[in-house]
Amino acid sequence: MYELGHFINGKRVAGTSGRTSNIYNPATGEVQATVALASDAELAAAVESAKAAQPAWAATNPQRRGRVFMKFVDLLNQNMDELAVLISREHGKTVEDSKGDIIRGLEVCEFVIGIPHLAKGEFTEGAGPGIDMYSFRQPVGIGAGITPFNFPGMIPMWMFAPAIACGNAFILKPSERDPSLPIRLAELMMEAGLPAGVLNVVNGDKSAVDAILTHPDISAVSFVGSTPIARYVYGTAASNGKRAQCFGGAKNHMIIMPDADLDQACNALMGAGYGSAGERCMAISVAVPVGEETANRLIAKLSPMVESLRIGPYTDDKADMGPLVTKEAETRVRGLIEKGLEQGANLVVDGRDFKLQGYEDGFFVGGCLFDNVTRDMDIYKTEIFGPVLSVVRAKTYEEALDLPMSHEYGNGVAIYTRDGDAARDFASRINIGMVGVNVPIPVPLSYHSFGGWKASSFGDLNQYGTDSIKFWTQTKTVTSRWPSGIKGGAEFSMPTMK
Ligand code: NAD
Repeated sequence: MYELGHFINGKRVAGTSGRTSNIYNPATGEVQATVALASDAELAAAVESAKAAQPAWAATNPQRRGRVFMKFVDLLNQNMDELAVLISREHGKTVEDSKGDIIRGLEVCEFVIGIPHLAKGEFTEGAGPGIDMYSFRQPVGIGAGITPFNFPGMIPMWMFAPAIACGNAFILKPSERDPSLPIRLAELMMEAGLPAGVLNVVNGDKSAVDAILTHPDISAVSFVGSTPIARYVYGTAASNGKRAQCFGGAKNHMIIMPDADLDQACNALMGAGYGSAGERCMAISVAVPVGEETANRLIAKLSPMVESLRIGPYTDDKADMGPLVTKEAETRVRGLIEKGLEQGANLVVDGRDFKLQGYEDGFFVGGCLFDNVTRDMDIYKTEIFGPVLSVVRAKTYEEALDLPMSHEYGNGVAIYTRDGDAARDFASRINIGMVGVNVPIPVPLSYHSFGGWKASSFGDLNQYGTDSIKFWTQTKTVTSRWPSGIKGGAEFSMPTMK
């Protein structure tokens, strides 16, 4: 058993609220740790330390700020094995998958090493007689990030890397299910040269989130998690005068055209549907084969692949996927599978009875494959967030296109085809934020940006890329006139460049 507190003003501190939450080993079902849940006073202490540290950090030249991330990236690489295990033992995913979680965050840290260039301003000489105009970006002050359990490395780094590189101080409220890595990341940021107080990690639940959303000294809030909470955080942050970007759930479709390379499509579906036990916001959870023949061939090829998934604890380095994160998540996923059966879907691979010797109390669900799923079923409408793939058969390309177009969510989507015309038409017409063409999980690289559409996102700037520099800074524009001696009388009408 171990106990986790918070990371405030450059060091680990124990929680003082008296409230804690259990952290499970998902493979065995045992409680392995507790995490402190912050009170309003603890959140306020973190904000005080951020407030004290931020002005000097903002005044540090941007090259030096970038160098902290250079060193941090080195430390992440040096400690990769240890860091990946910190994720896996609380989340349950394989160690290789956890390394991917860290590396996708590390890449955002690499991106922000270029902060001197990224945050540069604009200058117009001679905008009028003797008039120069320039705009520059200043940090918003104190930013906060609220993150989900499924990527405890990548998503905190999506947020704190650009926020801190821009000269802000930051309060991170990670998921209470797997908070060990975020605290370790804060320690490594200190080792990389970040001054105390610039990055604080406050663990907690709804109460800590509400304290963030109502704290007058926090100017901007970034959230990633489920859609109902994203909607709540967006509304509450905005009504408290804060800038907010909030990313929610997903239901990602993959369209498989009759001319697709079926081996490639099936391999992609396996990784994107069952990797990380389906607990990814960019997981493919709906496969849409176009035409009966494509559908029959797909089911015939995919079923044995799903049946032979290797499922195990993170200590099994040959496992394809691990357990779900909590008993609650397992119960929810099993409930949705039952709903699918009740509503008439055909469960062609049934993973409900999966058991692993020695891990009977773990939160495992075997890979499931549903065929003949229709739009009205709960398993189609709801984000399952488990190892369950639904096949919805479409007669035509237009019918296939209409499925993700009409769905509530708009995070990611993919098309598998050898036809460039179809792929181009699809990418142009689809109303979804991230599109893969023969790529199953189209998570953009760090110098582009990440964000869904529709109920997958609230707010208007994406995570990382140049959008994040805009989100974590505010623009100031100066209009100046030199020499000061230019003569002219008082002007009462709106000044224009006639
Ligand atoms: P969650 O919404 O339960 O929790 C996210 C965060 O919100 C956590 O820090 C949690 O402590 C906090 N929270 C939970 N309930 C709250 C409440 N009532 N009030 C205020 N705060 C609350 O999400 P999760 O289960 O940790 O993560 C899975 C979800 O996140 C899925 O829906 C997944 O699609 C989504 N997700 C989205 C993206 C994306 O970029 N769009 C990325 C990863 C995960």
